[in-house]
Order: sequence, then C-alpha cells, then structure tokens
Amino acid sequence: MSAAPTSTAPALPFDPTDPVALTQALVRCPSVTPEGGGALALLDAVLSAEGYDVHRPVFSAPGTPDVENLYARIGDTAPVFVIAGHTDVVPVGDAAAWTREPFGGAIENGTLYGRGACDMKGGLAAMVSAAIRYRRGNPDTPGSIAFLVTGDEEGPSVNGTVKLLAWAHERGERFDHCILGEPTNPAAMSDMIKIGRRGSLTGKLTVQGTQGHVGYPHLADNPIRGMVRLLAALDATPLDGGTEHFDASNLEVTTLDVGNPATNVIPAQAKAAFNIRFNDTWTPETLAAELERRLREAAGNLVRYTLEVQPTNAVAFLTEPGPFVALVTEAVEAETGKRPALSTTGGTSDARFIKDYCPVVEYGVVGKTMHQIDESVAVADLMSLERITHRLLASYFAAQHEA
Ligand SMILES: [Zn+2]
Repeated sequence: MSAAPTSTAPALPFDPTDPVALTQALVRCPSVTPEGGGALALLDAVLSAEGYDVHRPVFSAPGTPDVENLYARIGDTAPVFVIAGHTDVVPVGDAAAWTREPFGGAIENGTLYGRGACDMKGGLAAMVSAAIRYRRGNPDTPGSIAFLVTGDEEGPSVNGTVKLLAWAHERGERFDHCILGEPTNPAAMSDMIKIGRRGSLTGKLTVQGTQGHVGYPHLADNPIRGMVRLLAALDATPLDGGTEHFDASNLEVTTLDVGNPATNVIPAQAKAAFNIRFNDTWTPETLAAELERRLREAAGNLVRYTLEVQPTNAVAFLTEPGPFVALVTEAVEAETGKRPALSTTGGTSDARFIKDYCPVVEYGVVGKTMHQIDESVAVADLMSLERITHRLLASYFAAQHEA
C-alpha cells in the first residue's frame, strides 16, 4: 500500500452540487477496470474543496493489477454515515455499436449516455452532490459523512473495497451505517431497495469412466451415464423453499463437456460445472456438505466422481429491516410517491464486504442498461436520487440528534 499525497484542489469547471454535471465529468474519465482514468482524482478535487479529509490508497496483490481507491471523511464525531461506490466500469464492448461516444457523457432528450452512466457513476455523483448540499446547509451537524470508493468492483475485487475497509478499520475508522449506490431499480426510482444479497457457489464435477468401443460396452464404462445420474440428483429436490426475505436457492448447470468427436467411442471422462445462488439457509460450507451428500447417495459404488467446490467470498447476507432500512424506504417514498420493495435478488456486490463493518443497504438509479451498449441514465433520475439522498442524510442525522 502506498498513499498518494492529498492534492490541493484546483477550481472545478463545474458545480459539484449539480449531479448531472458531476456524472458527465465522471463518465468522461475512461476508468475501465483497473484503469483509474482520472475519476478518483476528480472526486478527490471535489471533496477536498468541501473540506473532506481525502486519502487515495493503492492496493496490490500478486497476479492482480494495482488498484487505486478513495476514502474521504468530513466530521470528527459519530455517527459515521458511509456512502459507498465504485468508479470503475466494464469495457465498452463493440465501440462501433454505440450510437453515442462511450466516454462522452452526451445528453439527449433528458438521457445521459456513457459507460458507467448507471453502473454506477451516476449514482455516486448524485450522492456526492447531495452530501455536499447537505453539509453546506448544515455545517454544524453532529456526526460525519464518509465516502468509500473503489476502482476495483467490476474486476477481480481483490484490491478494492475489501482492502479499503480493512485499511480504514486499521486507522481507527468506525462506521455506523452505509448506503451503496449500485443501480438497484429495475424500471423506476420507486422500485427497489436491496437489503441483502444471495451467495454464490461454483462447483466442478468430473465423472471418470473407461473408454471403449460402443459395440463392446461390457469392456467400457460410459461416464455420461454416471454424470446424468449425478446431475439429476443435484437437481431432483429444491435446496430449500426460500426464507422470509429470500427466494429459494437455485442451482444451474452451466456446462456439460465430454469433448468426444466420435459416435462409435464411449468417452473416458465427462465434466460439468454448476453455479448456485443461495439464500441465508446456507453457508458455503453447509451447502458444499449437502452437495456431497446428494452425490454420494446417487453415486453409490457405481459412479466414480470428484467434486471441486471453488472457494467463494460471496456469502448470503441480510440487513434486517429496522430503523435504518425504514429511513431509506421513507426517503424514497417521500420523493417518488411509492413505497419501494425490499429485495435480495440479483448478483453479488461489494455490500457483501461492507456488511462485516456496519449495516448496509443498496439503492441507486435505474439499472436497465448496465453493462450494455449505449448505457444511459435519465437526468430526472439523477435529480431524484440527489433529493432522496439529501432527505436521507437530513432524517438520519436528525434521528441521531433526537436519540
Ligand atoms: Zn456496479
């Protein structure tokens, strides 16, 4: 780890309380993981100018690219309200297929285009703008606001949030609550807050047979027969029936390979892989044990197999609905006129690391176009998220004051 010196901010060419201008400025930084593209330097300049104490630690690990991160805090007292996010983006893909410049930030008919517009530079920008507007209006508010921003969410996620959290903890930073600005809404700003995430587990199954002539099957042992039996056993009964806040865990076989070009040869080996998105019924360990049990039972003495369960840091977690979740829900409802659903659906996110330090809830813009050609965000949604975040900060610090 090495820390870049905190810079003295030059005058900004835009108003940082305007979430649209800030989103455009961030989109114009080509920060495809692991490239920083100047996005964190920009946030550094914006937050430093507002009096935040800004750090930009760079983390490294063998076999992975070095990644720059940002931690910024204003205020010296508890509670510490954390706003988390990432400035890195996925690659552009087929640049010729884009109808707007991927790093241009053009606005047309109320829509802002560019890689990262919704995932998640737009969400981060709206929250930065709201935090600045809130602190400018309430300079003497008790408590602190902190930003935890990584450049390694879309990549291996090794030199990002997980290390930034440990780094901050090491420095004595303690967090009370966190909002992560990932694009949680499927279609409209009133749709969805995420209060947890499912875990993810990948397994690789190999069945060993004996190669031979299809005309002389007694001299061979077809591994496909055993593989079919094992996969059927994994799939036969649901893993669970879902829990209060989670859908049922789901197993999908993702590949099945024999690689046999001949129709008169019984192959020697069959391989399959599967991925399970699991709920809070399971830990990776108990789930692996259940898989082994099912396979052992189905295999008996007939099928020779090995199961390799890949290590995972994506465990299922839930932030129990309580006062904090209620504050976020009320802020969304007050601005959109509709009560958002509390959900645990979708892929994993950096919330799985943050939850070890403080309760975390995810809410951001509409994610319809994330990772797509012509990724975009509605200007109205950026404005809406800025107001929701401002409202949330005001009610959060007011509630602390009363308590
Ligand atoms: Zn994201």
